[in-house]
Amino acid sequence: MSGREQAYLAEVFESNYIAPLGPMVDRFEHSIQRFTQTPYALALASATAALHLALRVLGVGVGDYVLTSSFTFIGSVAPILYQNATPIFIDSDYASWNLDPTLLEHAILTAPKKPKALILTHLYGQCAAIDPILAVCDAYGISLIEDAAESLGSRYRGGQTGTLGTLGVYSFNGNKILSTSGGGMLVSSDPHLIDKARFYATQARENVPHYEHLEYGYNYRMSNVLAAIGVAQMEVLNERIAQRRKIFGWYREALGEIEEITFMPELPDTVGNRWLTTLTFEHTNPNRVRLALEKEGIESRPLWKPMHAQPLFKEALSLQNGVSDTLFAKGLCLPSGTQMDHDTVIRIAHLIHKAL
Ligand SMILES: *Cc1c(COP(=O)(O)O)cnc(C)c1O
Repeated sequence: MSGREQAYLAEVFESNYIAPLGPMVDRFEHSIQRFTQTPYALALASATAALHLALRVLGVGVGDYVLTSSFTFIGSVAPILYQNATPIFIDSDYASWNLDPTLLEHAILTAPKKPKALILTHLYGQCAAIDPILAVCDAYGISLIEDAAESLGSRYRGGQTGTLGTLGVYSFNGNKILSTSGGGMLVSSDPHLIDKARFYATQARENVPHYEHLEYGYNYRMSNVLAAIGVAQMEVLNERIAQRRKIFGWYREALGEIEEITFMPELPDTVGNRWLTTLTFEHTNPNRVRLALEKEGIESRPLWKPMHAQPLFKEALSLQNGVSDTLFAKGLCLPSGTQMDHDTVIRIAHLIHKAL
């Protein structure tokens, strides 16, 4: 926390807006709009809810196909199932660890039916190759939804991830670069999509005095209490990004000379938020390193297991090139919290050295 959260929470209690909606929700939405330079934002209960609404407002439903990054977290993909649509998983490339643009057109051409949307993840805060991906989406009339849950503040050629497609989402879950304990945001430059999403997020209530329903919705709005935390968190976003990038730099200084280590790259003309410092080992099993750190009370984690390799999706359509399977087999996420100092990073680097 930044230290200012409790002051804003006190304002919430004084105003007695202990509800979804309220002045803090508006302030939080405005601060995201300002920071990301996007005209419309909708604060929600989670990024998973935001992705669900994105699909709903784009009209994705039964019998539809949705293209998606395979190398991602389940929260990216589960909303496709909520809409009874069918995912098509696309593998990564080594340049970005994100969706391989060269597979995209083939995925569209070989799909049983033209896909309606692409959910593109910017993994660990690293920008995906948006320009070539967007070019293919535009050529085939496919809506791009950016899953920027992990990449708030990451910049692709000067533009913010999350704002470059039709819709974008951010997460404020406990583990993300900013946290409201739980929460998400849907952003777009299309006011009609955001208005529709707001309508579905508040039980699809018609604009009449009594409760009238032509459609069903969800209870997906963010609470005014949690939005107060978000307002305070936004004030330190730039510091957080600078600190995460510094931590990445310390790790690279300490471990970069080791030949079998490769850090997650960064595409040219992009600046990621380095949400987590992640790397791969060419020969050593990353579990050995993970267990050596665990012995010292230090938590590290495997990279995301690709969706095409999940038992849940063993029948699913996918385009694979072996990249995300290899990253999963060889990779590790290192401790990256912004409260870490240089000595702590050096201590972890030393333990990794020893384990190798
Ligand atoms: C965290 C995360 C989500 C889900 O966010 P919630 O706010 O926890 O629902 C979706 N996609 C990715 C890539 C994530 O890391």
